[in-house]
Amino acid sequence: MSVRVRFAPSPTGFLHIGSLRTALFTYLIAKSGGGKCILRIEDTDQEREVEGAVESLIEILRWVGIVFDEGPHVGGNYGPYTQTERVDIYDKYARILLEKDGAYRCFCTPERLKEMREEQRINKLPTRYDRRCRNLTDAEISERLESGEAFVIRQKMPLDGDVVVYDGIQGEIRFDASHLDDHVLVKSNGIPTYQFANVVDDHLMEITHVTRADEWIPSFPKNVLLYRAFGWDMPEFVHYPVILNKGGGKLSKRHGDVMVEEFRDKGYLPDALVNFCVLLGWHPKDDNEILSFHELERNFDMKSIGASAAIFDTDKLDYFNGYYIRHMLPNDLLSVCLPYLINADLIKAVNDDGFEIVKSGKVVGRNYLEGVVALEQERIKKISDVVGAVDFFFVDELEYAPELLIWKKMTAGEARTNLDNLLKILDAVPVDSWNAAVLEEVIGNHIKSAGLNVGSVLWPFRVSLTGRKASPGAFEVASVLGKEETLRRMGKAIKQV
Ligand code: GLU
Repeated sequence: MSVRVRFAPSPTGFLHIGSLRTALFTYLIAKSGGGKCILRIEDTDQEREVEGAVESLIEILRWVGIVFDEGPHVGGNYGPYTQTERVDIYDKYARILLEKDGAYRCFCTPERLKEMREEQRINKLPTRYDRRCRNLTDAEISERLESGEAFVIRQKMPLDGDVVVYDGIQGEIRFDASHLDDHVLVKSNGIPTYQFANVVDDHLMEITHVTRADEWIPSFPKNVLLYRAFGWDMPEFVHYPVILNKGGGKLSKRHGDVMVEEFRDKGYLPDALVNFCVLLGWHPKDDNEILSFHELERNFDMKSIGASAAIFDTDKLDYFNGYYIRHMLPNDLLSVCLPYLINADLIKAVNDDGFEIVKSGKVVGRNYLEGVVALEQERIKKISDVVGAVDFFFVDELEYAPELLIWKKMTAGEARTNLDNLLKILDAVPVDSWNAAVLEEVIGNHIKSAGLNVGSVLWPFRVSLTGRKASPGAFEVASVLGKEETLRRMGKAIKQV
């Protein structure tokens, strides 16, 4: 039987990093096993619809690289794929379940349930439905239905014994039936709860493996009992290990710390997020931790998902992001950097290849910008870092304290003289041989023949171009700035120091 798995989120408006891990494992189980991955929207339990939530969910998953074979956006033979569009189906199966005695109608009013819970609390008993309606006679039920009393449908849980279930990762798990509540499967408005809709859909959509995070283990016995009550074949269940923070606690619920959209906006690359997330609970057999999406699609194996908690270490995410940034082609790197440079108002797009430097009005091409961002390729951890790292390229007037031009114990006069002499030497370098290697050679020769200290020349030179204590090297910066701008910035510095 070929693998059919589903990712079944409730659309909340953003994607939690833990849900991304679930989606990713699930997708990779399908891909590596030649199966199908289905997107199912579980929206029956939602208080209110979050506008655009499904679209943005699909969009962020697509950004990561996850493509579904079936789902609300692509269709398929098992639709509809949004639960609120399947209410008639659940209604039909709720009736079947009642007939099979796996559930019963409960007519208790919300007020009665409130009182019941209150009493249980006072008596320090677990707050659970007291099963008052579990054994109503057929005649009683008909009468109450006829008189129009509202009811919910509750699952009929075993009263004693153990419910034994089997998880693909954790193995056998036992639940004491006496702790299980006759919980609600269908609400009084006819809308099913997650517990019911989820199982009916997994069955009807012929899901072979129910794959989800281990926070769903409490639902596991309820699900299994439903399959048994219906007399349906059981899919395999696979609960992915919990994700903890570095301190061993639960992952933050603060959106900014865990939202995939936020990671994207900060400039984490999809490849890095995928590589990082896939290692949250899974480990490749050969220990090679750098894995491309395509390799994962081929080589992911469910059997290597571990049972122990995965640790969410953002330093590791930064490491992966840095790695993937360093391995980008210049053109691709520029493409992901451009929105940040534009948003920071450093440049404006004027046409396909032309960008206006906002401060100077000068128009530069992609080539120039590729050179700028390439200078930081080795250093930046997130794409958003590029703005702060290269903004000195995009100013008309650098602002820095003139003392910054002075290296160690040299005097202002020496700094001025060294810059002045260097400017004359650089003025003689022809524009068409203006590049980092030539500059390094010319300046190196000059330092040697004049018997100068390297720092006393290169420090003021670099500061005159960048206005910063730390930046990429002077030769590279000068090479990207070009001869004219280099000499102009040096000239300004000479006047200031
Ligand atoms: N709707 C559940 C969620 O939001 C799905 C759990 C499951 O996969 O069974 O995660």
